[in-house]
Amino acid sequence: MNSHKPDAIRNVVLLSHYGAGKTSLAESMLFASGATTRLGSVDNGTTTSDYDPSEIDHHMSINLSLLSHEWKENKLNLIDTPGYADFTGEVKAALRVCEGAVVVVCAASGIEVGTEQVWNYTEEIKLPRLIFVNKMDRDNANFLQTVEQIQKTLAKRCLPVQLPIGAQEDLQGIVDLVTMKGYTATTSEEIDLPSSLLEQAKSCRDKLVETVVEIDDNLITKYLDGEDISNEEIIGAIKQATIEGKLVPIFTGSALHNVGIHPLLDAICNYLPSPEERDAAIATNSTTGDKEEVKPDTAAPLSSLIFKTSADPFTGKISYFRVYSGVILSNSQVWNANKKGMERIGQLFTILGKNQQPVEQLTAGDIGAVAKLSLTTTGDALCAQEHPVTFEGIELPAANLSMSIQPQTKADLDKLGTALPRICEEDPSLKVHRDSGTGETIISGIGDSHLEMVKERMHRKFGVEVKLELPKIAYKETITAPTKAEHKHKKQSGGHGQYGHVLLELNPLPRGSGFEFKVKIVGGAIPKNYIPSVEKGVNEAKSEGVLASYPVEDVSVTLYDGSFHPVDSSDIAFKIAGAQALKKGLSQGQPVLLEPIMNLSITVPEQYTGDIIGDLNTKRGHVLGMTPQGNDTLIQAQAPCAELLRYSIGLRSITQGRGSFTMEFSHYEEVPAHVSQKIIAERA
Ligand code: GDP
Repeated sequence: MNSHKPDAIRNVVLLSHYGAGKTSLAESMLFASGATTRLGSVDNGTTTSDYDPSEIDHHMSINLSLLSHEWKENKLNLIDTPGYADFTGEVKAALRVCEGAVVVVCAASGIEVGTEQVWNYTEEIKLPRLIFVNKMDRDNANFLQTVEQIQKTLAKRCLPVQLPIGAQEDLQGIVDLVTMKGYTATTSEEIDLPSSLLEQAKSCRDKLVETVVEIDDNLITKYLDGEDISNEEIIGAIKQATIEGKLVPIFTGSALHNVGIHPLLDAICNYLPSPEERDAAIATNSTTGDKEEVKPDTAAPLSSLIFKTSADPFTGKISYFRVYSGVILSNSQVWNANKKGMERIGQLFTILGKNQQPVEQLTAGDIGAVAKLSLTTTGDALCAQEHPVTFEGIELPAANLSMSIQPQTKADLDKLGTALPRICEEDPSLKVHRDSGTGETIISGIGDSHLEMVKERMHRKFGVEVKLELPKIAYKETITAPTKAEHKHKKQSGGHGQYGHVLLELNPLPRGSGFEFKVKIVGGAIPKNYIPSVEKGVNEAKSEGVLASYPVEDVSVTLYDGSFHPVDSSDIAFKIAGAQALKKGLSQGQPVLLEPIMNLSITVPEQYTGDIIGDLNTKRGHVLGMTPQGNDTLIQAQAPCAELLRYSIGLRSITQGRGSFTMEFSHYEEVPAHVSQKIIAERA
């Protein structure tokens, strides 16, 4: 593939709810443009986009996939994204590097919640977009009803630029409202507009023209004076209105039957902006710390952003990048401004699914990939050393579902050490940490499916078999009443005896104080050299409390008396005495369990507020405050960690995926008696 100038490049992300037909649409576009010679199918697992074995098995996209191909004189870098909410990280990465989007809506099931979600993402970054009403061949497909729903749910400014000719079994083609011509179904040959559609087409065209002339004073004047407005002028106005976010043009067809695909490819080139037509990217100059605009100027110093890394034990690591300015060359050296080091670039590629086509260079505005970078990870900027810049990182969804990773065998445990960092490098929305409270390795992701796929990937790519289990809760134990405890460790079994005698005072401390050990021995009741042994015994004993063997916290222990034997006393005897005295004291001090309490910030559409609060009540939670935020409400609450292990799944089902939350540790609190009894019984 030849190098393309920025004005002949379109970087376009396909977005929708799972199942609306993005992958099928991408497949049809590749076939229509001649990039592939065989039309693959999602149902047979033969698409160019979903080539990963997990994607084929599950019939769904899990990773973003780059499908670079040419349409007429343009290069389209199409990015197919997963529609399922668990893989939003991939959507966010794709949104970061595209100037335009095609939002796919199913003509039979209409707007689904995943589409609303991705629509909101495009709104946040004011991304120019088109809508493709897909599956017009399906039973129950209804174009006008879908348009009405789009206008009601997404935005009034979504207007048809096409109408379907026929529908369902009788889908024959589409009508273009600019040219007022018809196009046949599969071959897109031009035909006359069917007379049965004339009235409707005229009325839709009028509405479209009336809207887009507003973009240009000259056009409004012409329109108001009743002068003719040429098709070229309308096309220009549609493009400008789309770029300025005043119009979202609606197209239609059927991905499965190749209806409306050529016109959609034309529309992407005609109506979505090239890198030159979108606002310049903003970078931070690493030398001055100042923000600067990066225009897609091929003569400027190189700047590019790694937006995705894929790791494969066989093909190695592949880094996907977008060039913002300058030119990147195969077999060159570039500066990684984030890691502050030189990176060697080998062969550059343009990518079509899993196929790589070697290229000599990639220029400003383009997207491509390179293999085997050594120090570069997702989010890094590769640039010219004399002009280092960094880009803001890719905003990722919160990883709110945590599971403990349990390797199945010793061999799995050994391999986990290499597999985990590689898997996390591929998927920055995953987080891994070791819980110091429970000793478990915890992996956090966006939802059940996300973590299941990670497990599958670990097995498939790295041969590691793991189980994922809900993490253990890092409970603690404390006392609620002051007490004194004594233990005399005395053994006389012939020969050398053992003697250690300690008296401890135990006092509860406020939450979060930790554990303290103090000494108030007077008159040498215990010689100084034995005191560290007492402390050692106390410290060892506090790691396993008397209720359910959880560590003891928020207790002050004072060693205030004791006695010794000049011959039989020893370090070990005092250690045992210290440990036993502490255990006795803990039992006497009305011990209780403590549990971690989390701060929750939950954002949900206002109508779900009642359900969320009701649900929090069943989770021993309490609401601290509520703040309206546009159509949403932000609910601040606290609830025990033990009740929130599957909250991401619960929230999704209450709000049908419309809610989000963040969670962080707040403090420890006493576990209510009835809950505590259960925990103790389970540990017995
Ligand atoms: P994605 O999840 O948005 O990528 O959707 P897919 O492309 O995986 O399609 C989901 C299902 O819808 C598959 O079974 C496709 O065969 C089917 N599908 C996609 N496009 C069409 C279409 O235009 N018409 C019909 N009838 N089915 C379609």
